[in-house]
Amino acid sequence: MEAQNAARTLGKAHLSHLPQRPPINLGFQDLSYTVSNGKTSKLILRGINGEFRSGQLTAILGPSGAGKSTLLNILAGYRVNGASGFITTNGEPRDLRLFRKLSRYIMQDDLLQPLITVQESLTMAADLKLGNDMNKERKTIIVEEIIHLLRLSKARNTSSELLSGGERKRLSIALELLNNPPVIFLDEPTTGLDDVASSTCVSLLKRVARGGRTVICSLHTPSARIFSVFDHVYVVADGRCAYQGTAAGVIPFLKEINLPCPTTYNPADFIIEVSSGEYGSHIDQMVAAVDNGKCQRWRSYAMEEDNEDLEIEELNTGVVERHNYKYESTPFQQFYVLLRRMILQTIRNRDYLWLRIGLHVFLGAIVGALFNDMGYDASKTIFNFGFCYACIIAMLYTTMMPVLLAYPTEVLLVKREYFNRWYGLKPYYAALVVSRTPPTIFFSLIYLAIAYPLTSQPMEFSRVLIFVTTCILVALISESMGTLISSTLSVVNSMFVGPVVAVPLMLLAVYGIGSGDEAPPLIWRLARYCSFMRYGLEGLIMAVYGPPRDDLICPVDEDYCEYKNVKYFVKLMGMSDVSITVVFIMLFVSLLVMNLGAYYLLRQRLSPNYAFRAIKVIGRFIKTKMSLTL
Ligand code: ADP
Ligand code: MG
Repeated sequence: MEAQNAARTLGKAHLSHLPQRPPINLGFQDLSYTVSNGKTSKLILRGINGEFRSGQLTAILGPSGAGKSTLLNILAGYRVNGASGFITTNGEPRDLRLFRKLSRYIMQDDLLQPLITVQESLTMAADLKLGNDMNKERKTIIVEEIIHLLRLSKARNTSSELLSGGERKRLSIALELLNNPPVIFLDEPTTGLDDVASSTCVSLLKRVARGGRTVICSLHTPSARIFSVFDHVYVVADGRCAYQGTAAGVIPFLKEINLPCPTTYNPADFIIEVSSGEYGSHIDQMVAAVDNGKCQRWRSYAMEEDNEDLEIEELNTGVVERHNYKYESTPFQQFYVLLRRMILQTIRNRDYLWLRIGLHVFLGAIVGALFNDMGYDASKTIFNFGFCYACIIAMLYTTMMPVLLAYPTEVLLVKREYFNRWYGLKPYYAALVVSRTPPTIFFSLIYLAIAYPLTSQPMEFSRVLIFVTTCILVALISESMGTLISSTLSVVNSMFVGPVVAVPLMLLAVYGIGSGDEAPPLIWRLARYCSFMRYGLEGLIMAVYGPPRDDLICPVDEDYCEYKNVKYFVKLMGMSDVSITVVFIMLFVSLLVMNLGAYYLLRQRLSPNYAFRAIKVIGRFIKTKMSLTL
C-alpha cells in the first residue's frame, strides 16, 4: 500500500518533468499477416480492425498463440514484411518513418546490457534519451523517480544479468519510459511480476496513458483487479478480433451471446477461455458480433464506468507532422555514452580478460618455442617464414573468433535499442571501433612480446616497429571482418562462415610462393591482392628480411645453407618488389573497407533498404522452390 502511494505521488512528479508531446490515435483496418516457411504459408492475423486511442490504456488479450505479439510487432513497425492492410495515425495513413520516431516497443523477452547496474543503465539511458537541454540534476531526479516508481531501489546496484525476472522486466519498462514517448507498446509487461508489482506497473502505465499517451500492452491472464484498470480491451482469438470495448463491457457482451460469466469468475479469464474455445466454438459468433473489430459497440460502458480522473490534456491533433523528432542527444554525446558503456563492459568482464591474457601468453610461448632461435639461423630460413605466417594466422583467429561468437547476440540488443531510437548507428559503430581497438592492440602486444624475442628476430627498432604495426593492423582488420560476418548471421552460421572465409584468404596469402619472380597468372595475382593477409605476410617478411640485412648465420654443423642470402630468399618467395609503403597503404585501405562493409551490413540488418529487402524476398522464394522440389 505504502509503495503504491509512493508510486502514485511520484508518478505525478515524474510526469511533470517530461516533455509534452502530441497525442496519437492508432487505427488499423483489414490487417492480415502471413508467414511462409517453405512449403506452407500460414495466416496468423486475419483481416482484423481496431482503434487504440490516446489517453487510454489498452490491453490486448487472448490465449497463447492467438497472435498478440504478432499484432504488436506489426503495429509497432518492428515487422513489416508479410503484413497487409491499413494502419492510420490520427485518421491519416501512417508514415512509418515518422511513427517509428514517436513510438517505443518493449518486447516480451528482456534483453539488457550485461555487466551494467540498474542505476548505470538508467543514467546512461537518460543521457542518451533526455538530451542536452536537460541538466544533470534534473536527469538524476527523473532517474530516481523512475527507480522508485518501478520499485527498483533495492536492485539499483545489481548488475543486470543478476536481476530476477520481474526486475528485468521493470528495468526494461523503466528504460523506455524515461522520455515519455507518445505511443508505447508493451508485450506482456506483467508476466513474471508478482501481483503488487503488476498492479503498480499497470497503474503507472495508466497514469502515463492519462498524460495523453497511447499505451498498448498485450497481457497474459491479468487478475480481475488489474483487468478493471484498463480503459480499452481488445481480444484476439485465432488471429481475429473477438471483442473490442471496455473491461466492464465484457460481461454484458458475453451474456448477449448466451455465455453468462459466473459471478465468482474473473471476466478476463473467462473471455480468454471462451476465445480459446473451451466452452464450445463461440469464436465466430464473437467475431461477428464485433465485426472483426470494426465496431466498438461496448464503448458506451466506458463513459459510465470510467470518468473519475479523465484529465486528458488538450489534444492538439494534427501537429505530429510538423514535429521533427530528431535524436535528443547529439551524435557526439551518444558516442561518449556508448563508449563509456562499452569500456565498462570490457573492464568488468574480468574472467574473460584474464582468459584472453592467458591465451595470448600461451600462444606466444608455444609459437616462440616452436620457432625458437630461428630468426638468424640460415638453415632455418623457411621455418622463419613459417613463423611469420603463424603470426598472421594467430592474429586472424584470436581476434576474429571471439567477435563471431559474441557479436550476433549483441546485434539483437543493438537492434532493439536502435529501434527504440536510443542512438544513431554512426556513433554506435564509432564507439564500437574505438572501444575495441586498445584491447586488440594490447593482446597482440602480449603475444608479440613473447614470440618475437624467443624466435630471435632482429632487434632493430625500425624492424620491430614494422613487424608490430603489421600484426596489429592484421588483427584489427580480422576483428572488423568478424563484425562484418556476424552482423547479419546467427552465432552458429557466423562460426561456420568465419573460418571458411578465412581459408581462401590464407591460401591466397601464400599463393605462388617459391616460384620466384615468375609471377602467377593475372587472375590469381589480382585475387592475391584482395587478401589482406597477403599484405600482412609481405609486411612481416619485409620487417624481418627487408634490405639492408646481412647474410644469416649458417650453423657450424651444417654443410650448406641455401637460404643464407636474405635477398635471394625474398626473391624466391616472390616478394622482391614489395614496398613497405604500399603494404601499409593497402592494410589501411583493407581496414577501412572492412569497417565500411561491416557498418553497411549492420545498417541493413537494422533497417534494410529496398535492395536488401528484395534480396531477402528472392532468397525466400528460392528456398521455397527448393523445398518444393525436394
Ligand atoms: P501470442 O498471442 O502468444 O503472442 P504470437 O503472435 O507470438 O502469439 O504467435 C501467433 C501464432 O503465430 C503462433 O501460433 C505462432 O506459432 C505463429 N507464428 C509466429 N511467428 C511465426 C513464424 N515466423 N513462422 C510460423 N509461425 C509463426
Ligand atoms: Mg506473445
